Amino acid sequence: MSQLQQISVLGATGSIGLSTLDVIARHPERYQVFALSGFSRLLELETLCLRFRPRFAVVPTAAVAVKLQGALQSGGLSTRVLVGEAGLCEVAAHPEVDTVMAAIVGAAGLKPTLAAVETGKKVLLANKEALVMSGALFMQAVRKSGAVLLPIDSEHNAIFQCLPGDYGRGLSQVGVRRILLTASGGPFRQTPLEQLQAVTPEQACAHPNWSMGRKISVDSASMMNKGLELIEACWLFDAKPAQIEVLIHPQSVIHSLVDYVDGSVLAQLGNPDMRTPISHALAWPERIDSGVAPLDLFAIARLDFQAPDEVRFPCLRLARDAADAGGSAPALLNAANEVAVQAFLQRRIRFPEIANVIAEVLNLAPTVAVESLEGVLQADAQARQLAEQWLQRHER
Ligand code: NAD
Ligand code: MG
Repeated sequence: MSQLQQISVLGATGSIGLSTLDVIARHPERYQVFALSGFSRLLELETLCLRFRPRFAVVPTAAVAVKLQGALQSGGLSTRVLVGEAGLCEVAAHPEVDTVMAAIVGAAGLKPTLAAVETGKKVLLANKEALVMSGALFMQAVRKSGAVLLPIDSEHNAIFQCLPGDYGRGLSQVGVRRILLTASGGPFRQTPLEQLQAVTPEQACAHPNWSMGRKISVDSASMMNKGLELIEACWLFDAKPAQIEVLIHPQSVIHSLVDYVDGSVLAQLGNPDMRTPISHALAWPERIDSGVAPLDLFAIARLDFQAPDEVRFPCLRLARDAADAGGSAPALLNAANEVAVQAFLQRRIRFPEIANVIAEVLNLAPTVAVESLEGVLQADAQARQLAEQWLQRHER
């Protein structure tokens, strides 16, 4: 590739954002940062701006923008600071941008990610919640604009690598029997069930293999992360929920597998470091150095597998049911989960209650067909309201 790729990194101050910038910094001859966004760690955003010298930065409020603009000007930068969702959509859709890393966490990333998709960018999708919420509309927009959608989630990136290039013809057409989605089982895989009542946010966020943001860490502990990933995989690979099997693989070395009708099973392996899928997607179809150490299979020595326990992980069943129900169900599931996880992180509810909140929201809100972004946002708002009502009734 001869020309510098212009990249907007949405959610630059997060775990995925920082890993992305680490890879970009290794290849200054290939990639240039066009825009960086941050929502909370704003001093860190300032430091990143001084280092990567983007054309634009995006922050949540006008007051913060004025402050950052001043600091960057004193640092000799001509970076323009934009504000809020409109600013995020602007840098996602800007005509000079080639690639957008969608690494905002949660529903907040939906509109900017869609803006990148609708303008036909190369979209590196970490923000799985956006796809889970709006699956049909999102994929329709990809087809319409010709955007190149590449999965950053390590499992989906692995599946993508194990599928043939023409998998878009249909999984059965290319001989796929099923997709095997691996999960680590998180920090509570072996915790006695009665102790789950008392686990803290710190314990939930202490993932055994991956270092990640707090929301996805709690999702990994409840296995809602795998539930969201099941729905994500259905949309990315045009699979039915029944074609996807979840298996617990505690070492997180196999990132997922594809099982073919002739009995071949292809897997992608690697150290649990997000710079591998990020580098893969950034350079695709080429390969570049990611900074990740080579896999030492002798040191790993063994790979274990077990079936997930739905009593321990009720969120997995809730997500599978939402995937089967379709329509607004995944958007309801996602929003209820976001509220419940936030409440758990704020110590308003106990860990096992996360599943209770989601189950009640899905019971109370009818699943309806979703034909527009409006419909998605309505389901999202309804679920947040119902989840908040649950919290008010049950708060400790
Ligand atoms: P994180 O919490 O570390 O970072 C989130 C980023 O989003 C930060 O830059 C934050 O400032 C920004 N942000 C948060 N709320 C926002 C809002 N309301 N508006 C605008 N920006 C906002 O999270 P992360 O671990 O980097 O995860 C990001 C996304 O990638 C999530 O969707 C997650 O599921 C997905 N993902 C992460 C990993 C991982 O290893 N961390 C792996 C697979 C997928
Ligand atoms: Mg994942």
